[in-house]
Amino acid sequence: MGVLERFSMQGKKVVVTGGAQGIGRAGAEAMAEAGAEVGIFDLNLEIAEKTAKEIEEAYGHKAKAYRCDVTDEDAVIATFAAFVADFGTLDGVFNNAGICIHKNAEEVSKAEWCKVLDVNLNGIFVVAREAARLFLKEGKKGSIVNTASMSGTIVNVPQRQASYNASKAAVAHLTKSLAVEWAEKGIRVNCISPGYIYTELVEKLDPGLRKTWLDMIPVHRMGTPDELACGILYLMSDASTYTTGTDLIMDGGFTSI
Ligand code: NDP
Repeated sequence: MGVLERFSMQGKKVVVTGGAQGIGRAGAEAMAEAGAEVGIFDLNLEIAEKTAKEIEEAYGHKAKAYRCDVTDEDAVIATFAAFVADFGTLDGVFNNAGICIHKNAEEVSKAEWCKVLDVNLNGIFVVAREAARLFLKEGKKGSIVNTASMSGTIVNVPQRQASYNASKAAVAHLTKSLAVEWAEKGIRVNCISPGYIYTELVEKLDPGLRKTWLDMIPVHRMGTPDELACGILYLMSDASTYTTGTDLIMDGGFTSI
């Protein structure tokens, strides 16, 4: 198989959680451009449907939106069942939905702490487990790519986000744990760790904070979702068949200093 051919997703059916916008959308677009059919699982059905329609029109491959809260185990199970009924099978999951709360640790309630861990860690686990169950049922060599963050490696400043940092460090180690556990079954599990990426999540934050970050990033700019998409495509496709348990950091050099 040629090198470029390995990046092809032709005929593959994939799910992207949190795929309505931002990094999830960029991953969904990259895989559709490479030939995949895509299911978008997101809290926000209205935006997810718009995104699915735009992807289908742009790349000519089936795309469908589903409302799914990744913290609701029953909903995750039911939505994967609906996806398989619609698409026939599952080849891969970009397990990406995540949230962040900026607050001093001493002011964070247990409910806030649990909310972040529930989406960013428990949600990632339940989605990965459901995907693996489907791969195992069909004896399929599926690929799972989790979204961690550079915040799992370093502690961001000046914002306070202990729950987020802890959740993302856990995602990176969960990724390695699942990769080892499922390696002999042919299921690959990797994660990406983006640095500061300009998405809707970041748009909601204080502009002063963004300026501080630009001074700290070695390349002095934020990344764009489509810059991450190439890494996502690499890990989701057969370009990375010997890669599992990897954390691909894409951060403009931030964690190197
Ligand atoms: P966005 O907020 O732009 O997009 C995230 C999407 O996930 C939204 O559509 C959101 O819906 C959805 N979502 C949130 N909670 C759930 C849930 N419980 N179930 C299903 N869908 C949900 O975020 P980004 O694209 O910026 O981030 C995507 C991932 O990348 C996250 O895991 C984030 O932590 C990570 N990341 C982002 C970085 C950045 O700089 N942007 C840096 C490093 C990592 P709604 O809008 O309705 O909440």
